[in-house]
Order: sequence, then structure tokens, then C-alpha cells
Amino acid sequence: MNKCELCPRKCGVDRSVAIGYCAVPSTVKLGRAALHFWEEPVLAGKGGSGAVFFSGCSLKCVYCQNFFLSRGQGTEISVPRLAEIFKEIEEQGADNIDLVTGSHYVPQIAEALSLCKPRVPVVFNCGGYELPETLALLEGLVDVYMPDFKYADTVLAARYSAAPDYPETAAKAIGEMKRQVGETVIGEDGLMKKGLLVRHLVLPGAVANSKKVLDILGNIVDKKKDYLSLMSQYIPCGEAAKYPEINRRLKPIEYKAVVAHAEKLGFENVFVQLSDSAEEGYIPDFDGRGVLKRED
Ligand code: SF4
Repeated sequence: MNKCELCPRKCGVDRSVAIGYCAVPSTVKLGRAALHFWEEPVLAGKGGSGAVFFSGCSLKCVYCQNFFLSRGQGTEISVPRLAEIFKEIEEQGADNIDLVTGSHYVPQIAEALSLCKPRVPVVFNCGGYELPETLALLEGLVDVYMPDFKYADTVLAARYSAAPDYPETAAKAIGEMKRQVGETVIGEDGLMKKGLLVRHLVLPGAVANSKKVLDILGNIVDKKKDYLSLMSQYIPCGEAAKYPEINRRLKPIEYKAVVAHAEKLGFENVFVQLSDSAEEGYIPDFDGRGVLKRED
């Protein structure tokens, strides 16, 4: 029996016959594989990101924007097909291959990347809830890490993501990512060739959490070279209606307080969002686009 202990949940299930917390089997499941034009401008230019959205999630936040995808909805494919998707999406002109929430598929991703290593940077876009030993399987295969750092507050981490260990886990995971990629490098075209971009979604009523996230992050990353994206795009999705304190949009005053804290701490490469970013139009359809071969 092949026990799955890929992520901090350490469910110990055999995913060839059962599913664990992340809600997906060992066979790769995707929701969509297509060009995506809403990532930060240092990641993708006119070509867009070649976003490969994996089904399932080891966090399953109650407010998830991709709720059904994170709960396991998607189409099963083989590892060789995943490698083929990387090639297809690169041929469409993508500026990178953007692996979205694939932490519970790291061995399969490593195998696919060894079958087809794209010429454009490979971006590992994840929730920050990863084990260093799992991330180590990606060393030399991933060029850019783009983790979330969601919580420094263990109570919020437990309440919204059932992960009270999230703060220390994310700090260690981001430390491992930084070790692997070293110094962030931006090419002449203005796009990141290797490095680290950490995202933080500011939650309603949680400015203190956000500030503490930045305090911790400031001790892990290079505040002059690595990138930080402060996201104001929160909208109550998924099961957020069951949590009254987050069943609203973010107030501009809350977001401004977090941005000001990042400035005070000396983060130099910070992406901020305009207030009209909180629109559901930014959420792609997980309609299986690009997942199966045309003739399938
Ligand atoms: S990857 Fe999934 S099955 Fe494996 S330990 Fe994590 S949540 Fe459990």
C-alpha cells in the first residue's frame, strides 16, 4: 500500500483506491489548461500564463473562489497527457507554465516535467501549505515559486482552512522555496525567469493577521528582490456565508492599512490591486478546456 503523506495532513490513505483530505485520487485531475491573463505582470506579458488548474486541494478554504475545483471536480488524465499539455500550452505562446494548486500531485508533476521540460519558466502556484520534503522533489524543475501566505493567526487558519499549523508550515515551505530558487531574476523582457513571488489575500476583518504575515515573511524573503502581491480581490465565495465576519468584501481602509505596513517593513517589489479587482469575472470557468486531446 502506497500511503499518501505528501502534505501536512499526512492522511496515510492509498490514493489508488481511496481519497484523503485533498479529495482527489492519485490519477491527475484537472479543471482547465489554458492561457490565463490575470496573473501579476512580472509573471506573464502578452502571451499570458499557461495555467494548468489541478483539481482538489489540501487546504480547501471555506471561502475558496474555485470551490468545486478544490473539492475534487475535474477530469482525470495520465502523466504523459499532462506532459503533452505543457507542450501544447507553450506552443500557444504562453510566457510560462503556471501550475495552479498542484501540491497534492507533486510526484506526478515532477514526472511530467521530466518527460517535457518547457523552455518557458515553470511556475509553482500554491497555497503555502506544503512540506519541504515534498517540495524537494521539484528542485531543478520549478523556476518560480508563487505561494500564498494566508495566515499568521492560528485561530483563523483553523477556522477557515482547518489548518492550525498553517503559519509555521507556510514559513518553512517558503523558506524551502527560497532555498531552491535563490535570488529572483527578472529578464530583459520584464518577466521573472526564476525566483519567488508571495501572494497574500487580505481577508475582511483580519488586518492584524495580514500585518503579522508580512512581519514573518520579511524575515524569510529578500525584501528588495523578491516579489509580494497584496490582493484585495476577496469576494465571499464557497461557504463564506456561514462565517458572518467574512461574508462581505474588503473595505478600502483595511487594504490600505496592509499596504502601508508592507511599505513600512521595506518590501520594495509589491503589487497592489485596484478596488475593482474584486469581480467574479476574474474567476475562470473550469470547463475542462485544454484538458483532453481534441480527439478524446
Ligand atoms: S496530499 Fe491529499 S491524501 Fe495526501 S496527505 Fe495531503 S490531503 Fe492527504
